[in-house]
Amino acid sequence: MNYRVVAIDDEPSYLQLIQEFAALSSIDSLAFNKWDETILDLLTDHDLVFLDIHMPDTDGIDILMKLNEANFKGGVVVLSGADESVVNSTKKLGDSLELRIIDLLSKPFLLRDFRECISSFDFSWQQPNSGQDAIDQLNISLDDIPNYLDSGWLYPVYQPQVDPNSNHVSGIECLSRMNHPEHGFIAPPVFIEHFAEKNIIEEYTLLLIEQALSECRPLLLDASELIISFNISASSLNQGFTKKLLEIISSSEIAPNQITLEVTETHAISLTQDALYAVSKFRAAGMNLSVDDFGTGYSTITQLNELPFNELKIDRSFIIDITENTKTLNIVNATILLANSLSLKVVAEGVETEEQLNIIKNMGCTAVQGYIYAKPMELTDLQEYLQDATRRKQA
Ligand code: C2E
Ligand code: CA
Ligand code: CA
Repeated sequence: MNYRVVAIDDEPSYLQLIQEFAALSSIDSLAFNKWDETILDLLTDHDLVFLDIHMPDTDGIDILMKLNEANFKGGVVVLSGADESVVNSTKKLGDSLELRIIDLLSKPFLLRDFRECISSFDFSWQQPNSGQDAIDQLNISLDDIPNYLDSGWLYPVYQPQVDPNSNHVSGIECLSRMNHPEHGFIAPPVFIEHFAEKNIIEEYTLLLIEQALSECRPLLLDASELIISFNISASSLNQGFTKKLLEIISSSEIAPNQITLEVTETHAISLTQDALYAVSKFRAAGMNLSVDDFGTGYSTITQLNELPFNELKIDRSFIIDITENTKTLNIVNATILLANSLSLKVVAEGVETEEQLNIIKNMGCTAVQGYIYAKPMELTDLQEYLQDATRRKQA
């Protein structure tokens, strides 16, 4: 996916900075020191506009209105040196207009701030099914997987799970990313489904776990309470896969109780003999088992109690609705209460706002995974995030 950065700012020094940062990130850019109606004709749905909200002729707020009228479908990063309340109200305005306000960037900013905006855009631009054509063309086979991992076209990212009471980072979920040099970013559900169709999901999962455990090893050895979670397709729960995974875990020398395997709920209930073998072996080895996307499938909490799961993840679709819909609120509350009484750990996924966080926290949920704390990130950023988190706790 190719896109372009378009910068609109009356200060030439910032235009130059954005163009330099774009060039350093191998992204094309255009710069304008004032608004001009012809800019609208240049914009495509893929562009990311960096917009200064304080300009002498037409200010950024009016430009947001114009972008909205023109039905602009790209992303907008609001640039400002102004005080936070103006910036926040501008963001609210943008949201109410259905513009995609990706981020707020206050001046002065650094290359890493710029790159954060870019990566937010990369992710949010992608619809869940994006990259379907690309993956069909790529037609990936088993032999390609190690090459893709070695070239960094397929790679792990990690999203922190945080205890909202102490701000302590208790875990990280390993998620996959595919970024192909020619075809661009392919959404995880799309390539994971492709691997499943081609029957290479098990090999992929094993290689990914091996790589992630190896690169996270120092982190995990350093923090014995930090847990790493992996997504396992229910179809992989067979004897061969189980044995190979146990071997990888044992040779990684990472304590099995620092590892959680997340299985999606829809499949988790139809446990075959093979799957029962797998979950029993994993639990016996000391690993944690989690029901992913809880609430979207059919299993009941009592069924969960009979199976050796010790965690459930409340699906993002519930969290999105929690402030709007009392029914959803009650469902989530009941789920947390029951889970607590069954000694199941509950992770709330997809928490984005303070309002959602407060509700979840007051319900007694002790693990939150969502953009409010952090997006999934690569290892180097994770290391920094964990260091900052430790510093924040000590301060
Ligand atoms: P999931 O396991 O439910 O993972 C959580 C998804 O929610 C991730 O999307 C994560 O980036 C996203 N998310 C977390 N917090 C927020 C938030 O506050 N707001 C929003 N909008 N999204 C949030 P991602 O990484 O795109 O993965 C999508 C799905 O693809 C995953 O859902 C999982 O089912 C699958 N997947 C990803 N990586 C792997 C993998 O390595 N193996 C397998 N089997 N499945 C994977
Ligand atoms: Ca998951
Ligand atoms: Ca989920």
